[in-house]
Amino acid sequence: MRKENKKMKRPRTILTIITLILLCTKLFGQDLGAQAYSDKYSKEIIHYLTDEKFQGRESGTKEMKGVIKYISKEFKKSGWEVTLQKVTAEGLTASIGEPKPGRKYPGEITNVIARLDGKESDKYVVIGAHFDHLGNKEGLGIHPGADDNASGIAVLLNLARMIKASGLTPDCNILLCAWDGEEKGLLGSKHFVSTWEGGEIIYYMNFDMVGRTKTPENPGITFAWNDNYPRLRKHCEAALKNVPTPFEVFYDQRWGDGKGGSDYAPFSKRNIPFVAWMEVEMHEDYHKPGDTPDKICWDKLQKGALLSYWVIHQWIFPKK
Ligand SMILES: [Zn+2]
Repeated sequence: MRKENKKMKRPRTILTIITLILLCTKLFGQDLGAQAYSDKYSKEIIHYLTDEKFQGRESGTKEMKGVIKYISKEFKKSGWEVTLQKVTAEGLTASIGEPKPGRKYPGEITNVIARLDGKESDKYVVIGAHFDHLGNKEGLGIHPGADDNASGIAVLLNLARMIKASGLTPDCNILLCAWDGEEKGLLGSKHFVSTWEGGEIIYYMNFDMVGRTKTPENPGITFAWNDNYPRLRKHCEAALKNVPTPFEVFYDQRWGDGKGGSDYAPFSKRNIPFVAWMEVEMHEDYHKPGDTPDKICWDKLQKGALLSYWVIHQWIFPKK
């Protein structure tokens, strides 16, 4: 009897310890998801994606296979279900129309889409960042694209870990989309939106160039949002309270008119409430071979990821 009693007690002790840990994190205002952001992981991702072996990540090149494999593997390691959305040049013509005059679609592009199911819902939150860049240009060399947009992919892969680590089941389904073909005319995101047959997309969030700053002592980020939905700005203001200072947000009001130079545009065109994070001002290495990892401000990248996590938190775990 004594022995049996001891065995019975053990699970209760473990439960008490877990409850205590949860209570402590609640008391001190910490969140397991927010704590899962890793500076080391961001550095690994950006250094890996900007490696010479990928030749500047141009859509349609053979080197892209390795990039796609890496991003899929990382999503899977964080416990997400991954689908590759492949589309050929002909498929693109069918879904989004002929290329612009003088342009050609790549032979094939691939969006890497990670999925996490929510509580029996047909609603979706979609979060995206493009992984392609300009490639190896004759006379100029390799364009590593550390800020454009390995930085966005670093945040996206961190969010995969953070959302899982929160330990909560989201209310709606979440798709984390690594887009291909952005530099060739937002091809991946346009194709995704025009062929989407799932439920309602209630929010879209985009990351494109979120790793650099001209004022590292007081870094900032631009928050552009569809102002047909004023609540989005309120979500950002509430989220900002959880981010350590110094950190500044520059509010850049947009309309749901489909205009914009990154993957939020196709979502904007459908008047989906969107948020797009981007640099405060364009840097001198924009679309140049000088866009290298050593110029990333890791502190800014972390604060941007935390801020976006707390916005997403309000979308997927709404207070009842
Ligand atoms: Zn670009």
